[in-house]
Amino acid sequence: MKEILTSLFTSIALCAVLPLQAHAERDVVKLKAAIATSLESDYPKLDALYKDIHAHPELAFQEVKTAAKLAAEMRAIGFEVTEGIGKTGLVAIYKNGDGPTIMVRTELDALPMEEKTGLPYASRDKTTWNGRETLVAHSCGHDIHMASWIGAAKTLVGLKDQWQGTLMFIAQPAEEVGAGAMAMLTDGLFTRFPKPDFAFGLHDGPGPYGFIFYRVGIGSSNSDSLAITFHGRGGHGAAPQQTIDPVMIAARFVLDVQSVISREKDPTEFGVVSIGAIHGGTAENIIPDDVRVLGTIRSFKPEVRTKMHAGIERTANAAAAMSGAPAPDIRIIEGAKAVMNDPAVVATAETMLRAAFGDRFMTSPPATASEDFSEFASAGVPSMFFNIGVYDPERVASARKSGTPLPGNHSPLFAPVPKPTIETGVTAMTLAVLSAFDQHARGR
Ligand SMILES: [Zn+2]
Ligand SMILES: [Zn+2]
Repeated sequence: MKEILTSLFTSIALCAVLPLQAHAERDVVKLKAAIATSLESDYPKLDALYKDIHAHPELAFQEVKTAAKLAAEMRAIGFEVTEGIGKTGLVAIYKNGDGPTIMVRTELDALPMEEKTGLPYASRDKTTWNGRETLVAHSCGHDIHMASWIGAAKTLVGLKDQWQGTLMFIAQPAEEVGAGAMAMLTDGLFTRFPKPDFAFGLHDGPGPYGFIFYRVGIGSSNSDSLAITFHGRGGHGAAPQQTIDPVMIAARFVLDVQSVISREKDPTEFGVVSIGAIHGGTAENIIPDDVRVLGTIRSFKPEVRTKMHAGIERTANAAAAMSGAPAPDIRIIEGAKAVMNDPAVVATAETMLRAAFGDRFMTSPPATASEDFSEFASAGVPSMFFNIGVYDPERVASARKSGTPLPGNHSPLFAPVPKPTIETGVTAMTLAVLSAFDQHARGR
């Protein structure tokens, strides 16, 4: 598959048709048309790559074959590729004279779940995850990101007379477990390679294709997890007076913890606690010794985050104390921070993307989901993360009217329409990167 794909990628002399305009205002309409011409010949290859990756997804830190496919593509385009950064990640560098270094990130990983789309290229692959066999699916759409990433790399190299500097394309493992960005950083992403001046990333979602959604400032939530073990004293279900019942304590906690959201947190601020798992007990007539509760905590602002953590801890202790039980083991694990979109980077990209996409480039509220792309901004790189839709706009409109949402990310039915989605991803990312090169050139 790899060899056939590579040979399809014939270089297009885009540079010949567009004069160098790095210091002047660009003719964005012409530029967009040039990108469209490039995509016309590149798309069949991107489509095949997308469907291949979609059919053979890999989980966090297991993305060996996926990374190898991307590495081969990037080498064929002319990038210098280093593999095995942050275990399975890769860094691809393309130098094109003096100028800033601009990073573009894709994720590599998929999810431990069954795909139920019925698509001809649906995944039926299985792997071992936490000691158990599981089906694997690209239900978060990271395969769309990979195809768009390759497409943008190819397009930018085709346009290399239009910019000067260094492209740093990174493929990050393990986004779904919130660990891959940090793994790459601790493995020397910004010390063994140039620290980028700007960074861009994108994510797909159940909106209309051809549209781009963005915002300044907070773009996604802080994501923390909770793991609480309530200790009781097990015994016969018919003699509860001889026991301390941890099932009841856990049930009380699951309900009462929502009062942290409804009564303690400022109602105008975003905050969510969701309990995703309760593990305890073996039979109908045995009160178990322990019950374990797992959940997720989401917020935008640091002060809301701190308040929620304190409230959850207090509620867990109080639920146990009410039953005279020992103090529970409470673990709140801080995960990804909120993505912060740099106002200057967004303002730069905004001008070009608005000129190219008109009112299909629009602001959106921050996502309640989380993203470890935030680690790159936290490491000091001004960045922008934007979203693209994946479904037929008419389908989205009628779904909105009927009140039945279309399958979103992490749904077994999430099924992006590849061509318009990838084409939008490539076009938007290429223009965003060019805008950052322009901004730097103007600032000199
Ligand atoms: Zn996801
Ligand atoms: Zn994702």
